[in-house]
Amino acid sequence: MTSSGFGHQNQTAPGDQIVLWDFDGTLADTLSSSVSIYNELATQHGFRTISDPSTLRDLTTSEIMQLLGIPIWKLPGLARRFMARQKHVIQHVPLFPGIEHVLRTLRNSGVVLGIVSSNSDESIRLCLRANNVEQYFDEIVGYARLFGKHLALRKTMAQRSVLPRQILYIGDEVRDIEAAARVSVEVAAVTWGWHSSSLLSSQRPTYLINEASEILDMPRFRSLRAGPD
Ligand SMILES: [Mg+2]
Repeated sequence: MTSSGFGHQNQTAPGDQIVLWDFDGTLADTLSSSVSIYNELATQHGFRTISDPSTLRDLTTSEIMQLLGIPIWKLPGLARRFMARQKHVIQHVPLFPGIEHVLRTLRNSGVVLGIVSSNSDESIRLCLRANNVEQYFDEIVGYARLFGKHLALRKTMAQRSVLPRQILYIGDEVRDIEAAARVSVEVAAVTWGWHSSSLLSSQRPTYLINEASEILDMPRFRSLRAGPD
């Protein structure tokens, strides 16, 4: 796990609100470029390719791996090659609609923003910089394991000495909901990413979010001072 801050790391106060974001499929619309990269690698390594990504939106990560014929022991190598390729295209990946406004509004209201993602710290920064939002984030935690997100969340809480109730995690997959639940953190599941709305709601996230602006309407942010636009 790598962690680096570019604000005042570990300066969180007891009353602070912290929003931790997943990156792929939540902040950044990496879906189509990810499928293209995966299909190139799949052709080279003998896995099944993805022709229609929408047919996979109701399947968990483990189910997708089974369907595509990817043995779990090949996953680390595949993930490494995937991320090496993604680094070359990540500057061209846009954020989802309305995300920039939400980030700016939360940040201007004093909310601490961070990213906890299984993507690499370097790729995340390249994309944030290209979209001119890097300055809103205090912390980016990239970690190497696909199923270790709860550990990354726990480590972030310990390093910053924050309580679970101060944190909202926002993600687009079932494993994001599971990770937040394991560390007793509220989770907002967004429906514009990888997993379908019906699959996400079946896992009972704290909130189900269909549009970015709904994040600002959450009860936990109502008391925040509206920042300048
Ligand atoms: Mg994601």
